[in-house]
Amino acid sequence: MAIRALCHLPGDTVLRQKATRVPSIDGSIQQLIDDMVETMRQADGIGLAAPQVGVPLRVIVLQMPEEELMVIINPEIVKSDGEREVTEGCLSVPGYAGEIKRSVSVTVKGLNRQGKAIRIKATGLMAQALEHELDHLDGVLFIDHVKSRDKLYKVEAGTGPEEL
Ligand SMILES: [Zn+2]
Repeated sequence: MAIRALCHLPGDTVLRQKATRVPSIDGSIQQLIDDMVETMRQADGIGLAAPQVGVPLRVIVLQMPEEELMVIINPEIVKSDGEREVTEGCLSVPGYAGEIKRSVSVTVKGLNRQGKAIRIKATGLMAQALEHELDHLDGVLFIDHVKSRDKLYKVEAGTGPEEL
């Protein structure tokens, strides 16, 4: 495993690309997943999408507090319900947090790292994290959901919301 460099705004245009589907889960994808997990943990994040380490492929990892590690390849949101206001931060937009709206619950389908079809229903922080990481795969960042300038503010390292 290796820690990969995190991509940041501005400058890393891979963050604005639409990522492509993983055609087959080979050794390079397993390596990517291992590296993403290590990079996320080292950065104290609770989620990471492959474009954040410069790889425009549809792979996400999540490590919710007190939960098992989750890896989803080619994830798709099949259902979302409700709306709630959250404060969100992103490892690729360091130093900022924003107040945005996210769904209360989402259902996501995709493949696990063994290539088995999985379906996950999530609420609360996990639903927020899934929407955030799925956005990354389409080149969308949380700042795009911020509706007015006063809902985006600077935070000092370690004092903001969980980073994704
Ligand atoms: Zn992010």
